Amino acid sequence: MKDEHIFIVRCGEVALKGMNKPYFERMLVERIKKLLKKFGDVSVKRHEGLIFVRADAALDKNALIKEISKVFGVASISPAVECESTMEAIGEAAVAYMLEAIEERGIKTFKVEAKRADKNFPVKSPDIGRQIGAVVLKGCKVLKVDVHDPDCLLFVDVRHDKSYIYQDKIQGFGGLPLGTTGKGLSLLSGGIDSPVATWMMAKRGMMIEAVHFHSYPYTSQRAQEKVEELASIVATYCGRFRMHVINLLPIQEQIVQNCPEEETTILVRRFMMRIAEKIARKTGCGMLITGENLGQVASQTAEALVVTDASVAMPVMRPLIAMDKVDIMDKAQEIGTYETSIQPYEDCCTVFLPKHPVTKPKLDRILASESRLDCDALIDAAVEADEVIDIFPR
Ligand code: ATP
Ligand code: MG
Repeated sequence: MKDEHIFIVRCGEVALKGMNKPYFERMLVERIKKLLKKFGDVSVKRHEGLIFVRADAALDKNALIKEISKVFGVASISPAVECESTMEAIGEAAVAYMLEAIEERGIKTFKVEAKRADKNFPVKSPDIGRQIGAVVLKGCKVLKVDVHDPDCLLFVDVRHDKSYIYQDKIQGFGGLPLGTTGKGLSLLSGGIDSPVATWMMAKRGMMIEAVHFHSYPYTSQRAQEKVEELASIVATYCGRFRMHVINLLPIQEQIVQNCPEEETTILVRRFMMRIAEKIARKTGCGMLITGENLGQVASQTAEALVVTDASVAMPVMRPLIAMDKVDIMDKAQEIGTYETSIQPYEDCCTVFLPKHPVTKPKLDRILASESRLDCDALIDAAVEADEVIDIFPR
């Protein structure tokens, strides 16, 4: 009967944006189109405050849903059936829909929830519900009505030209469409935290560019491949992005030779931030993003974060700052980065790790240590040697 899949896509917060609403919705439609391009002939259109996705019935419905749910700004998705806006047509479609649901899921009870977006439709919502319920009962003898805890809540959405019948509301991630809130440069390591932090900022509509630091040959080629793999998982949500790969070893060696051992980590972090800031300014990124989390390690005490922050003038977004590790891990599982993150490869931060890192660094002492180095030249050389790679969705 069906020659196409129809999905009703609802945009959560996007709908609240007042005057900007059409812009946000247009961006959302563009993002969905982009992500579904690989499926071929799929149409994505705005209509009466909803987004309708239509795709060939031969395509895998679940794969389509999975892809749509990854688009930031999508609150929920419902696979739906479309019919003419007459009580007769709606009744017929509802019966056909329920017969299929009985066969597929062994549904025994139902309730109709009707809504009339077209206020000129001659039947009022509660009456639509009652009348369609009666038609379904007649057409599907095994079914009973249960208004309190039905197996199937059947939605009937009556609109001006067509009506829609659906059951499931599959949750999306919410957030805002990509590209609606500028661009940020994410400091992406191979750990659990920074991919989650990147994902969270992208979810708020931010385009992503990334920088990764390594200490080759102390860190391996495989460690970098792991980061590229993580980045490509993040790219399945935020689309293709650029990653700057920087060798930090020359700077680390200078620090080790000239500065107190216990300050190594914080000094390295300040260099990372300054290099990142420089790249950000060159590439049109308005802020930096890190996976830092208050109190997690020596370099993330409140004092250390203050000293890290003081190295740059650009705002640093730390979306994980107040999250518990278990919650960050859950998020990593949910978005699919966890398994890759826990692969045991060394990070540049673990090279030259001091035995007793300073946990309450004082800015004046750190600045004194840095005065022994030619910071500007070191930073310029690192940025100069920047290797840029394109990250594609996995
Ligand atoms: P993650 O799990 O993200 O690696 P972490 O808990 O290991 O974080 P740190 O190693 O102290 O914490 O790093 C804090 C943040 O600094 C990271 O979340 C990331 O944003 C950035 N960072 C650390 N190492 C690198 C790296 N090699 N390249 C780019 N950014 C890095
Ligand atoms: Mg790390």
